[in-house]
Amino acid sequence: MALEVPENVLVTKLDALASWCRKNSLWPMPFATACCGIELMATGASRHDLARFGAEAMRFSPRQSDLMIVAGRVVMKMLPVLQRIWQQMGEPKWCMSMGACASTGGVFDTYAVVQGIDRFLPVDMYVPGCPPRPEQLLQAVIDLQDKIQREGTVSGREFERREPVRALLQLPILGQTPEMRARR
Ligand code: SF4
Repeated sequence: MALEVPENVLVTKLDALASWCRKNSLWPMPFATACCGIELMATGASRHDLARFGAEAMRFSPRQSDLMIVAGRVVMKMLPVLQRIWQQMGEPKWCMSMGACASTGGVFDTYAVVQGIDRFLPVDMYVPGCPPRPEQLLQAVIDLQDKIQREGTVSGREFERREPVRALLQLPILGQTPEMRARR
């Protein structure tokens, strides 16, 4: 006798379901340091409405975020802070490099500016432009959602492939001598 399946039953894999939930509830951690940050703010405002893609809940706490958006140039002095915040974010997490400065250093071809954050952090998505328009950021969010759905995360395989933070820099602690830092 054939088994009757009610019409309102949905069959899926746990991986696919988890990925679908994650991709539609991204909580960005904005690391906005310059003019690109203004475009990031505009993307969250009513005209472009990032909420249509479930990614409008900007958190300023790394423990509550799963999408780091680096918008603007990052100087070497700031890099340890960026890396520390990235490490404080729980898995699964993703990183987006917004604008020419974050991705390549932009016009700031100088030793003081990081010539691309992917030298130090694993970047999942790049948004080109100087500055990128909000539509480009929205497209990057959609592309990232596709990537999350396609690759999944539940099995952990994706975590293993992810490159670790490179050349981790130590945050200087006020009052510590170099010898004290070396002993840590
Ligand atoms: S890419 Fe252009 S708009 Fe963005 S931070 Fe650099 S100079 Fe400013």
